[in-house]
Order: sequence, then structure tokens, then C-alpha cells
Amino acid sequence: MSQDETTTTNFIHEIIDADLASGKRTEIVTRFPPEPNGYLHIGHAKAICLDFGTAEKYNGKCHLRFDDTNPEAEDEEYVQAIQEDIQWLGFDWGENLYWASAYFDTMYEYAVRLINKGKAYVCELTQEEFKDYRSIPTEPGKEPPGRDRPIEENLELFEKMKDGGFEDGACVLRAKIDMASPNLHLRDPALYRIKRATHHNTGDQWCIYPMYDFAHCIEDSIEGVTHSMCTLEFEVHRPLYDWILQTLDVFQPQQIEFSRLNLTYTVMSKRKLLELVNEKLVSGWDDPRMPTLCGMRRRGFTAAAIRKLCGIVGITKVESISEIELLESCVRDDLNETSPRAMAVIAPLKVIIDNYPDDLVETFDLPNHPKKEEMGTRTVPFSRELWIEETDYTDMPLNNKYKGFAPGREVRLRGAYLATCTGVEKDADGNVVSIACTYDPESKGGSAPDGRKVKGTIHWVSAAHAIDAEIRNYDRLFTAENPLANKDADFKTLINPDALTIGTAKLEPGLAQAKPGSRYQFERVGYFCADLDHTPETPIFNRTLTLRAPRK
Ligand code: ATP
Ligand code: MG
Repeated sequence: MSQDETTTTNFIHEIIDADLASGKRTEIVTRFPPEPNGYLHIGHAKAICLDFGTAEKYNGKCHLRFDDTNPEAEDEEYVQAIQEDIQWLGFDWGENLYWASAYFDTMYEYAVRLINKGKAYVCELTQEEFKDYRSIPTEPGKEPPGRDRPIEENLELFEKMKDGGFEDGACVLRAKIDMASPNLHLRDPALYRIKRATHHNTGDQWCIYPMYDFAHCIEDSIEGVTHSMCTLEFEVHRPLYDWILQTLDVFQPQQIEFSRLNLTYTVMSKRKLLELVNEKLVSGWDDPRMPTLCGMRRRGFTAAAIRKLCGIVGITKVESISEIELLESCVRDDLNETSPRAMAVIAPLKVIIDNYPDDLVETFDLPNHPKKEEMGTRTVPFSRELWIEETDYTDMPLNNKYKGFAPGREVRLRGAYLATCTGVEKDADGNVVSIACTYDPESKGGSAPDGRKVKGTIHWVSAAHAIDAEIRNYDRLFTAENPLANKDADFKTLINPDALTIGTAKLEPGLAQAKPGSRYQFERVGYFCADLDHTPETPIFNRTLTLRAPRK
């Protein structure tokens, strides 16, 4: 499926090649571990392409594992959406769907094992107090009270934590590692906390929940993950990942970090995206302005284009922000190949063909794609009055590039006839109200019988048959390249007020039947996608992108 990942290589694949060559591993197992606390964004797509693509390349397995250890933020709605988005991207976990919450018993046992080894203890310091004890990287911390409590006592206290014998937050279980380590993550990190919260899978069975760092490595280990890829911010957590598994003496996956995908003019954090949703600054997670996979899908971006972007950006350890134009060009390239053509008029001007019979309606079978016969044809009605773009008439053409009508000028009405402009009607202010033409009945299909050259070809829609659609035009979500650059400012003040503008269009009638989510190139206008709320009665199209990138 993802040719990009399976044919390319990167530093992670080099590590895997070496592990296979040395016999350290014989089978490759990766995982994609989303926390179900929001919808996936295009940053996650990079991780998905890497995790699933690597498994495909090595004929291994990629697990989809929900990292559901933090019940307060998690929700079944997200669980469903995440699965839908991964499948849409073109990946399949098959049988390998797992839940961190299914391992809560094992995690508890492992915590007990650490206590028994004298490697974990119950600590009553509050988070704030502990920060003081932990100190700063350049100075050693102090040992928290209770650090040398006997094993028996720790076992009792931990059991009491589990059995609900303490208030939320009254104590935590800590790893006993090194309060002087230069790596703060190794200064006795918390492993378990008390939190009375109903879990979407385990309900009220637990009132203690494992911390991310404790849970994640154990999940990977239980599942036999060989290479656990994550983003760079986890690099400093890796010594803890290794310490926990080594101390427990269990299977040890290798954690490997790579840099996140960032894009200009957007933000890539579920927490921040949730703010936009909650504060109704967008219509929802799938608002086409959002960098979420469902938002991009609704806007008309394709999975292939997103995978292509991930391939181009590649896997490295270098932090960077990719230009959103790069994604847009991947989308245009893909849509140019794959989207059927249709005719739509955005700013309509009436054309009356004086010599065309009043009550005649002809139909033309137009190709759905100029270069792909296999995409078939569609039938478009033609009649005496048409809509064309306002910009396809001018009193006086200013340059050679101009394709449209002007007094006395002959133009090809795409796929139908040649027509010559014979007159123009203007209102009192001099605005063009309609234009008059005569057509050449011998030019059916759009070519002149005598072979005369007609340079301009324009699109049109039969006025009697056109359907009116709402058009939603999209632009960048933020006005700043990096909306998070200024840490003191609220990124939400940088939202682009023109990121959504509403317009209308006259469409060829067949588009009424467009399936929600289907994509088109409206010829000479841009790429459009039937919105999820589109119906034949209330046609709604999202403008995915303009036909070409605007000049910078
Ligand atoms: P966010 O920061 O948006 O909340 P997250 O990292 O908390 O994302 P998770 O559900 O934990 O979200 O992410 C699942 C996987 O996706 C992790 O392995 C994470 O490293 C990866 N990931 C998240 N954001 C990006 C990104 N921008 N680029 C590449 N990988 C990412
Ligand atoms: Mg996270």
C-alpha cells in the first residue's frame, strides 16, 4: 500500500537491517500507540506511515495499541475515529489491536515486582514538594522521606493505594533510581498515581493508574515490539524506558526517536486542537480548516497525497517545520491525476446564443479526464442560455493569454460548439449584464469544420439546468507561519478570520448526485470536494485548493 515507506530507507531501517543481519531479531514488530484523547492529525500520519510502513517493508507486524492509561481525557468517540483515520490512510493492523488498559493487572504485578526488588517505594510528597526534592539538573536532588521504607511496608501501602485506602493524590509509587542523576527523569519518577476516574474500558475497577513512562515500555515489552519508534521529545525518557525493563528483567524493545512533522500556518497538538473545538473557533474536529486527518479528508485532501508528503519529508532526527505548500503540491499532483473533471461557474455571467433554437436541449458526452479514457464520460446538457465566468468576457482583451469572449471574438465552449460574441448588454452603471453570441452549428463537439483555429476554450453551464451550490472556500487556519512562536501570546488570537469564506456557484446538473466526500476538478477553477452534508437538494462543495499554487 505505502510504496513510499516500503521502498525508501532511513536511519531506522538501517538499525533494523543490522539487527536482522546480526540475528538480534528475526521478526520485526512495531506499533502505533495513540492515546484516545483526540483525533489524529497529519503529524500522526508521519508516525503511522513509519510504523506501518516499516512493518510492511520487513514483512513484520504493526500493532495498533490504544495507550489508554489516562481515563479523564479519553473517550470512545476518539477510539472509533482513530481507527477510521488509519484505515483511510491505507493501513491495516489486522488482528493486532491492543489496549494498554488490558495490561493493568500485569502492570500492577510489575510494580509489585519492583517493590520486592527494593526498586520502588510509596511517597507521600505532593507534586510541588517533590519538585523541590528533585531539584535542577545541575544540582543533586534530596532523598524524599520514606525512600528507605522497608519492602513489606511499601507492599502494604501500595496495596492500600489500589484498594482505595487513600484520597486522590495522597501518595504515588516511585521508582527508586538516583536522586542525583543528571537526567531528571531518572530522579525517582512516579510510576503510579491515585485517580478516581471512570475508565472507558475498565470502568471503576481501578483507582490507581500507571504513569505514561511506566506503562509504555511495559506495553511494548508485553507485545514483543522489537523497534518502538517515537518522537524526539522521548529521547530523554529512554534511559527510564530501559531501566524499567532491565530491572524487571523482561523482553526489551529498542526505542528509537525521530523528529516530529510540523507544518507552517497550523498547530499540531491535540490539546491545542481541542481548544479550537471546545471554544467553537472551528466547527469540529473535522472542520476542513483543521490539520486533522478527518478535516483534511473533508476538505478533499487525499490519503495518497498525505503519504507522499510523509515520504518526501523523510525520517530524521532534525527538527524542522515543513512548508504547507509542500503538502498542497502533493495534493494537487494527486488530484490532477485522479479527480474527474466537471464544469462549474463561480462568478456567473449570462450568455444568450441568439441563433440557437429556443426549446432545443442537446447533450454532450464529455470526458471525465483529459488523459484517462478509462475514467469514462459524463453527459452534460446544452441550451440557448448559458452561464460563463464573468472573467471570460472583456470589452478589450489586454494580452494573448486571455481565453474568453470579446466583441467579435470566437471562443470554444468546452466540448460543445464554437461561438462568436455579437453584443453585450450593460446596466446604467456600465456593468455587463449579459452577452449575446451566435454559434456555428457545424462545429459540434467544439472543432471547426474548416479547420480554422480557435484559441480560447472556456467552461460553461446550461442556465436552465444549472444547480446552485454553496461553495466553502478555505485558506490557512492561522495568519502566522508558526502560531506558537510567541510563547507569551495566545495562539488563538492568530486565527485567520478569512480561513473560511462562503460563496456560491452554478454547477453542471450531474454534480447534484455527487457522493459526499467525492472530489472533482472544476475545470479552470480549482479542486473541490462534495461536503459530508452535501445532498442533491442542498449541494455543498468545499474548495480543496486552487488549481495552481498562488504566486508568493
Ligand atoms: P499531540 O502532541 O498532538 O497530543 P501525542 O504525541 O500526544 O500528540 P499520541 O496519541 O501520544 O499523541 O501519539 C501517538 C504517536 O504519534 C506517538 O508515537 C507520537 O510520537 C506520534 N506523533 C504525535 N505527533 C506527531 C508529529 N507531529 N509528528 C510525528 N509523529 C507524531
Ligand atoms: Mg503525547
